[in-house]
Amino acid sequence: MTQESTMLDCERHVFQADVARLLDLMVHSIYSERDIFLRELISNAADACEKLRYEANNNPSLLREGDAFAIRITLDADAGSLAIEDNGVGMSHNDLTSALGTIANSGTRAFIERVKATEGGGAELIGQFGIGFYSAFMVADLVIVETRRAGDSEAWRWRSDGKGEFEIQPLGPENAPRHGTRVILHLNDHSKSYLDASKIEAIVNEHSSAVQTPVDLVENPAAEPRRISEGGALWTKPKADITEDQYKEFYQELAGQFDTPALTIHWRAEGRAEYTVLAFVPGSRPFDLFDPARKGRAKLYSRRVLISRDIDLLPGYLRFIRLVVDSPDLPLNVSREIVQQSQVLAAIKKGIVSRLLQELGKLSETEQDKFLAVWKNFGAALKEGLYEDPERRDVLLKMARFVSTAESEGKRSLADYVAAMRPNQTAIYYLVGEGADRIAASPQLEGFRARGVEVLLLSDPVDAFWVQSAVGYDGKPFKSVTQGAADIKTVDLLDSAKNVAETAGSVLEFMTLAKKVLETVVEDVRISDRLSESAACLVAPEFGPDLRLQQILAAHGQSGLQIKPVLEVNPAHPLVLALDRLAKSHDSNLFEDAVWLLFDEAGLLDGVQPKDASAFAARLSRVLSKAVGA
Ligand code: ADP
Ligand code: MG
Repeated sequence: MTQESTMLDCERHVFQADVARLLDLMVHSIYSERDIFLRELISNAADACEKLRYEANNNPSLLREGDAFAIRITLDADAGSLAIEDNGVGMSHNDLTSALGTIANSGTRAFIERVKATEGGGAELIGQFGIGFYSAFMVADLVIVETRRAGDSEAWRWRSDGKGEFEIQPLGPENAPRHGTRVILHLNDHSKSYLDASKIEAIVNEHSSAVQTPVDLVENPAAEPRRISEGGALWTKPKADITEDQYKEFYQELAGQFDTPALTIHWRAEGRAEYTVLAFVPGSRPFDLFDPARKGRAKLYSRRVLISRDIDLLPGYLRFIRLVVDSPDLPLNVSREIVQQSQVLAAIKKGIVSRLLQELGKLSETEQDKFLAVWKNFGAALKEGLYEDPERRDVLLKMARFVSTAESEGKRSLADYVAAMRPNQTAIYYLVGEGADRIAASPQLEGFRARGVEVLLLSDPVDAFWVQSAVGYDGKPFKSVTQGAADIKTVDLLDSAKNVAETAGSVLEFMTLAKKVLETVVEDVRISDRLSESAACLVAPEFGPDLRLQQILAAHGQSGLQIKPVLEVNPAHPLVLALDRLAKSHDSNLFEDAVWLLFDEAGLLDGVQPKDASAFAARLSRVLSKAVGA
């Protein structure tokens, strides 16, 4: 037991189970990147200052006249300690146990999995997963947190060696900050180099120069504080005065991500509303892009005072963009709800969305490779806008990129597609399914390939939805290749495919009988223009949802929409020709079995299991027995 733990009034707590594992993992696998502990603690201190600035909007008594926010780093070589102090919002007893005893519930386990998977790259993940505080244990064997919540009279002292327990005890007011937090690290034997002032200064410069709050360094307990970082709102500076590195650091601080932004957009708007925006498209896809609980990612300021740290400013399909918005036209002393309803804000939102899309569109035209990287990460989100935001559909369609039967890397734009349309081709064809490779093997595509007609292969879940509502592009309608009679007969076959087509016989007998056999399960049996190698495939009738959409709806319990498919057959296929001969003979049992198997096989190719598995098996073995002469 430590000395303090025997004192009166001292409570002991056990970390939540995951925390102990996490601490161990951090100390042992991310050890080589220890410098980042400072970045994390400075970022927490700056957050605390912003929080207090925000609370003081509604409760000015929390701040004293003339108070300026600052972060102070104090080195004490004799004690072997480094302290980071802020005059921010501080923590109550409750805050301490919940914030420093349980790690942001969001991500602990996910974090552990990711670190294990990424071998060494863990430092990048710490901020992203909201577990920054614990990085202190990479350099310290004892961490003490002295803190007082702004407005509270009592203060607290938290301490832990990071091995599984922490203690909290009351702290005499004379030893506590007036408001704010002092984090004292007793550096471990490997980490005494952090007592060197020039090293600390270099780390702050490298990792934290974009922090809003100024940082002061006290080189030894007797020295005067010296400012090593000015703080300040980057977005208020003229673009010409900001370096790329400064933007990048600011982004990393804002996003809690440590990649390089793919696109930085900084502008000032004047007009109906006056505002400044600094927005970033991340260089990598955040782990929670498709998490429905993902919060808004905009920080809203009015004249550099924070109004809201996570407002939903952008429509869902732009949720990957991180941004800061500062507008003097927004009232300060209002609740979030009122801000959300504000007319000025509505106008600002609209302006921002237009500008962001405009910039993305510009990138798609001028810098192909850069844009493709963005599309790869966020295209699936952007495509949601195709049905959520009809007003912007055209802009989004123009930048959209696809995998197609002509281009497998996903670089195809609709403009490329239209330019390569075949004579007499009237529609933009697509096929929706799971996984581009799997869709590419669908029999429905054969006739399109034989005619050199390109088909877009759509494999994102949102695809089945937007294609239904998109009217078309450049006057050409979108059309599913699994839907309706493929009207591609008017497009000439490529030379290589001509021979096959000529052997097509008339299979009238087969058609008539097959329709009867399958009466209950298909709408129709038809000669196909879309097949050249396979014997049969299923398609959706002309009007009504595409096959894939029906599957998605059925998977969500909306099977009321099930519509009988059409069986299309390839009249040139030897199997179909043989079945036609069989139809003319009198072995109706074998014929029926074979037609049912043909139907089930077509379904299987679309990922649909035969409805009656035992009947399917029985038919299959009857036909097999016959074939092998059993
Ligand atoms: P995150 O900053 O992503 O929330 P951290 O592990 O860095 O995750 O910090 C956990 C929480 O501890 C913070 O959200 C905050 O509530 C609290 N905290 C940490 N440092 C401070 C500080 N200097 N002042 C006030 N609260 C703090
Ligand atoms: Mg943090």
